[in-house]
Amino acid sequence: EQETSRFTVALPPALYGTERQNSRGLDLSDENTLRDLAAVFTATPAPVASEGEAIINPASTTEIVGHIAFLSPQAIDEALTRAASAFPSWRDTGAAQRAALLEKTAEALETETPRLMALIIREAGKTLANAVAEIREAVDFLRYYAAQTRHLGSAAQPLGPVACISPWNFPLAIFIGQIAAALAVGNTVLAKPAEETPLIAQEAVRLMHASGIPQDVIQLIPGDGRAGAQLVAAPGIRAVLFTGSTDVARLIQKQLSDRLNPDGASIPFIAETGGQNALIVDSSALTEQVVTDVLASAFDSAGQRCSALRLLCVQEESADRLLTMLKGAMRELRTGTPEKPESDIGPVISAEAHAMISAHIDAFRAKGHDVFQVTATPEAQSGTFVPPTLIEIGAVSDLEREVFGPVLHVLRYRRETLPDVMAAINSTGYALTFGVHSRIDDTIETLKTQSHAGNIYINRNLVGAVVGVQPFGGHGLSGTGPKAGGPLYLRRLLAERPALSPAF
Ligand code: GLU
Repeated sequence: EQETSRFTVALPPALYGTERQNSRGLDLSDENTLRDLAAVFTATPAPVASEGEAIINPASTTEIVGHIAFLSPQAIDEALTRAASAFPSWRDTGAAQRAALLEKTAEALETETPRLMALIIREAGKTLANAVAEIREAVDFLRYYAAQTRHLGSAAQPLGPVACISPWNFPLAIFIGQIAAALAVGNTVLAKPAEETPLIAQEAVRLMHASGIPQDVIQLIPGDGRAGAQLVAAPGIRAVLFTGSTDVARLIQKQLSDRLNPDGASIPFIAETGGQNALIVDSSALTEQVVTDVLASAFDSAGQRCSALRLLCVQEESADRLLTMLKGAMRELRTGTPEKPESDIGPVISAEAHAMISAHIDAFRAKGHDVFQVTATPEAQSGTFVPPTLIEIGAVSDLEREVFGPVLHVLRYRRETLPDVMAAINSTGYALTFGVHSRIDDTIETLKTQSHAGNIYINRNLVGAVVGVQPFGGHGLSGTGPKAGGPLYLRRLLAERPALSPAF
């Protein structure tokens, strides 16, 4: 016990207080709490269907969660014009007032938690625990950036309309995180949610408006990739925030490199992309703790986090024992309907994602790799579920691209080959999260120093970075920085005011 805690990272208090202020005191390890949450889900009706694109529940693909109209190119142009007109007054609103409006939105999210939770579960297939955590993270982003902008005060000069392009895997937390940052320092925002999850985004924007943020200051741009591309190409856009695939980030970067802001500056681009995240486990590690942390890192959120563990590197001497225990624990994970309190793993986001992940697993099987997959519950037949899967590989280079699902690759290494394994991990070019499980100080120090990753975790899991405490983001193919939920993020979204020299 003591040995374990000696190496566990101690979390400093969040910058805005001594504890996470938005915590509603929910204990998700308590069965009664989960049952109460499940009852809330059942009691919350699905939104009434209307016009537009149908959004499908990934856990039950015959169920339409709601409809939303994607904006036409003309409507997007009009939104851009409105965002530009709204900019001067939002800029002049002052940091304290903007912060207050973000905090009011945070309160609204807390009040509306049951309804938002039900929508996140239906639209994104999140489990009860993940849905609650998602809302909590969104609230954290709002409060953290509000606190930050108060601190920056009038030294910050906003840039203008900003495009926020966000992913489906954190359809509320990342959606709101990007927007809150851009708004906090006085930019206006055009927010393009992922085409799979626009309904929760629509709710979030409604709550921002209801909290007093003017309609044209934050506008929702529902659409597919074409809407995102139109925003990026628009001359009025002064910065782009993007979380999604490395390939799309590359396209955006190319497009932005062709134009400059009117003052001649390049257009700020914050990208948070993929990872080939690895965990090194040596033979001194505590097996039970490793198993718990691997389950959370690789399979929580059905592996649909960019921080998720993709490659577990185990020292040969302890590999058989660890893998036997890990497979046993994987069998205990319940893959099924996400709103059931007893479900651990929900669906992957879409039929397309399901097909890609399945093809990846099949390809390894066909090449003769050892593939272990647990069985899902019968209810999983109704949706796009992939049960936790483990694939043994022979070299880091067997991993070609990031597979965004509950698939863990395992590599056995011998002590003397560890430097080569580490070099191979770095040479993937991805550098998002990385972990070490060891009770040997030297090993921890060496690997920590060698890793290029943006977030390094020692003797714990690799997911769930806490806003304001563990700024999150990577390098290389994993993103541009600055880190989300960290002290430098807002600075990329503003210009410093010119220093005024006194007259002689
Ligand atoms: N911040 C999340 C975490 O630490 C991951 C964000 C993402 O998947 O984009 O797990």
